[in-house]
Amino acid sequence: MMKETYLGVHVSPLTYEGIISEIRTRMEGNLQSTIIAVNPEKVMTAQKNPEVKSLINGSTFQIADGVGILLASKLKKGAITSRVTGVDMMARLLKFAADEQHPVYLYGAKQEVVQQAAKNIQQQHPAIRIAGTTDGYEQDEEALIQRINDSGAKIIFVALGSPKQELWIRRNMDKLKNVLVFQGVGGSFDVFSGTVKRAPAAFRNTGTEWLYRLASDPKRIKRQMNLPKFLLRILFNRSN
Ligand code: UDP
Repeated sequence: MMKETYLGVHVSPLTYEGIISEIRTRMEGNLQSTIIAVNPEKVMTAQKNPEVKSLINGSTFQIADGVGILLASKLKKGAITSRVTGVDMMARLLKFAADEQHPVYLYGAKQEVVQQAAKNIQQQHPAIRIAGTTDGYEQDEEALIQRINDSGAKIIFVALGSPKQELWIRRNMDKLKNVLVFQGVGGSFDVFSGTVKRAPAAFRNTGTEWLYRLASDPKRIKRQMNLPKFLLRILFNRSN
């Protein structure tokens, strides 16, 4: 599969449709797939933390979540033409699951959040089968694995924040042989439940969602400094 590499971190240049189509083929071949969102913050963390780097590079699909990766691809004449956000990827996978009858499992977030997300998803896709939900504060991992296996889920969304969710996926995917798609979705259940509002369309469509987030939560400035740092490294580092 084609990848682009920024500061040693892989990114898939596929669109939502491209990823869904690859996933369909892989599911037919009974192959497991993992989806991880990549943004400048994670690329910068990967520079210092080899485990994070191997978690990203070891995934099947690294989606270009965030305008920073898109800009880097433009600077390096790569093939990434638009963002593939975690929350929109999840929305596409939910539609795919409803259309092609693959049961889904929602694991993560607070109990009322994951339950409300499941209700809203069921309402939006009456044909979908939600095989089960578990909040992200469950302690007994073995019991949870058993429950997911018994549920018949084929696709699981894991919302524990990063890198906790990716570590959970890597640790458990061998024990979840019948689950074929694993996506780490961060705060997406908070969005599907209506607990957290997404940035208005004007910000989303212009790639300035970060600006909206910064205005609503100025503490994010520290995390967001990764974007200019990342772009400077891309510009001035010859070996990326
Ligand atoms: N969360 C969880 N269990 C934990 C820690 C966090 O379920 O032990 C959930 C939390 O309730 C929230 C999500 O994980 O729904 C984290 O979202 P955040 O936006 O921090 O993730 P990011 O996308 O920034 O990685």
